[in-house]
Amino acid sequence: MLRGLMMDRPLLVSSVIDYAAEVYPDVQIVSQTVEGGLHRYGYAQARDRIGKLANALVALGIKPGDRVATLAWNGYRHFELYYAIAGIGAVCHTINPRLFPEQITYIANHAEDTALFFDLTFLPLVEKLKPTLKSIKTYVLMTDREHMPADGQLNGLLCYEGLLAEMDAAFTWPEFDENAACALCYTSGTTGEPKGVLYSNRSMMLHTFFLIATRPDLFAHNRTILPVVPLFHANAWSLPYITPLTGCTLILPGARLDGPTLYDLMENEGAEAGWGVPTVWLGLLDEFKKRGRKPRKLAQILSGGSAVPQAMIDTFTRDYDIEVTHGWGMTEMSPVGTLTLFRPEERAKPPLERAALSARQGRRMFGVDLKVIDEKGNRAPADGKTSGELFVRGSTIVSGYFKNAEASAKQIDSEGWFGTGDVAKITPDRWLLIVDRTKDLVKSGGEWISSIDVENAAMACKGVANCAVIGVPHPKWDERPLLVAVKAPGAEPTKTEILDVLASKIAKWQMPDDVVFVDALPMTATGKISKKDLRAKFADYKLPT
Ligand code: ADP
Repeated sequence: MLRGLMMDRPLLVSSVIDYAAEVYPDVQIVSQTVEGGLHRYGYAQARDRIGKLANALVALGIKPGDRVATLAWNGYRHFELYYAIAGIGAVCHTINPRLFPEQITYIANHAEDTALFFDLTFLPLVEKLKPTLKSIKTYVLMTDREHMPADGQLNGLLCYEGLLAEMDAAFTWPEFDENAACALCYTSGTTGEPKGVLYSNRSMMLHTFFLIATRPDLFAHNRTILPVVPLFHANAWSLPYITPLTGCTLILPGARLDGPTLYDLMENEGAEAGWGVPTVWLGLLDEFKKRGRKPRKLAQILSGGSAVPQAMIDTFTRDYDIEVTHGWGMTEMSPVGTLTLFRPEERAKPPLERAALSARQGRRMFGVDLKVIDEKGNRAPADGKTSGELFVRGSTIVSGYFKNAEASAKQIDSEGWFGTGDVAKITPDRWLLIVDRTKDLVKSGGEWISSIDVENAAMACKGVANCAVIGVPHPKWDERPLLVAVKAPGAEPTKTEILDVLASKIAKWQMPDDVVFVDALPMTATGKISKKDLRAKFADYKLPT
């Protein structure tokens, strides 16, 4: 081999904020704060405060490799922590505050976090959890001196703004191996104990580049982007790195994520794009309907994390002239795997025809290899028909879980590919179709019924606001599908009406054996419908014979 003669400089995330401070100093980060009101500053000012925070972290004794935990919403202080922690060579461990308290304890102890930074909202939670947190020595409340509690159980609680006030903004980032870890995120543990995904500076930078390279239009012209997806959910899908790098304005919505609040923030700040899970968009669409229009500049929705129903894509496209980009991925994949990606001839189609392609999970992001392994263990052809377990490979994909050799061994195959636990097929023109999570498939008499397909059909029924399909035990077929639906406000769809519509859209053997109406569906900590909870609720459900 003849080695190239180029400089070998490490890819470090700290370089991103320096770039933004120089090239886009006045482009804004706007945050809806937990204390109330809006906070705004440019990337140059953010860099100054990140410098102060880095000095404070060093003064607190945080060392390279240390895990520093956060329990926080999307806000500018959380953004600052991302960069300051990674910049000094430590690891930003974002913990999902919506998890059960016991899971938070498990995660913090497993990660051996040494410090915890948290928003005011979580003060009561942290006070309660403190006796169970074994390795955390430093507790910092992410607020100003005015909002510090007068007394409390957390002795020695530090104030974020107090720490910064004493520090110098100048901080030169140390240089180290690009393979050094920079962030840690645990999967929500929908199956078993949460597992830690430890990202490196290199993988994070590559994921950022790959996503920008694959869909540059999403970030063109210094767009204004609002991540509803939390900073604690898989790096907010890379937006905290992509927006500074591309000079996009970042709107951070804080703790209030209901339809009316989000709508107002989007309207007032001129958000052009919103990123989040489908349930968030259902709430926002309700608000559009109430007000008779969309927030004035909103033109793009990126929806990922669970399948986006065709009906939702059509409503956004037809009624509001909003283009929906559908993404599929996993925490283990940094997280993006595939996303809506049109070939020129598809892009040329009218919007509604294009929208008909967007319920598919997309085409692969550059840097992510896909393979489908059929029931017999063979590689399935990309024929759009043969389904099997989806495996992925790439430099932005986990090679093993943090301190969990057993779980790692289960999910990495002999060729080094990661098994996603999703069942998928790939069309000849390379669209990925996720059939279902393996554990959510309804196994009916040797056939698999995709709950996603049935849900998609049911979401198109008038008067259905949201729904989920689960398998319930059946004496003859092992399992049969049950449709659990939430009625839209003021609507009274009947079981027969829904089944009639479904009959025109799906095959007879896929038809739900019954429909039940509920007021609300249970949600997971990442805002997805919790099928595990639904299955538990309907475990003894007797289907009509
Ligand atoms: P959690 O388990 O906490 O939800 P992830 O966000 O990592 O964590 O979930 C990844 C899983 O979510 C995928 O394996 C897949 O089952 C599901 N998923 C993500 N995006 C989509 C999508 N667009 N369509 C269908 N399923 C999806």
